[in-house]
Amino acid sequence: MPRPRKKRIKTNRLKSKQNNKKSSYKQIANITKGFSKLHWGKCLFPDYRELSGPKVSRKRINRAKIIVKYILEQESNRIIKAFENFAKKKYYNQNPTIIVDLKSAVSMVENTTLYTDDECLYGYSDGYSVYVSAIKMSNEALVGTILHESLHNIGTINGKDICEKDEHTIMKSLGEQLDY
Ligand SMILES: [Zn+2]
Repeated sequence: MPRPRKKRIKTNRLKSKQNNKKSSYKQIANITKGFSKLHWGKCLFPDYRELSGPKVSRKRINRAKIIVKYILEQESNRIIKAFENFAKKKYYNQNPTIIVDLKSAVSMVENTTLYTDDECLYGYSDGYSVYVSAIKMSNEALVGTILHESLHNIGTINGKDICEKDEHTIMKSLGEQLDY
């Protein structure tokens, strides 16, 4: 007996899928001028193949900001988990209380500005704004720098601030590539 054939129904599956799902930050990067060729690492940080590029401009910062905001929003669970995992390892017998203020990270990103006074660093943050140096930087490094700086000063463990070295350990667990 011949098997009943499955009825073929023409669907616009791909299209409807795209419409239902919010664009991922990688898709947003793909349609952003100059950021479409960004390489992504295993986790949420870009894979820095090339650190050098044209001198950073306000225009490029504004484009990168949008991508970083999407990363923070879409990967919030992963970021919180990274802080929690670190705290549990470091304070394993103390049942630590971890608070991660991602809203403050997003607002720091929104306040990202071009900093022209000190060209030694890629960037820094003070808890309110991210400052990106007006140096030669690739778009991968630019996205990574803003993301990196926005993850500083947003978490506490047992009510205490996390030191920079520990924050860097957490960032590395999220795919950040640091030389130290
Ligand atoms: Zn840092």
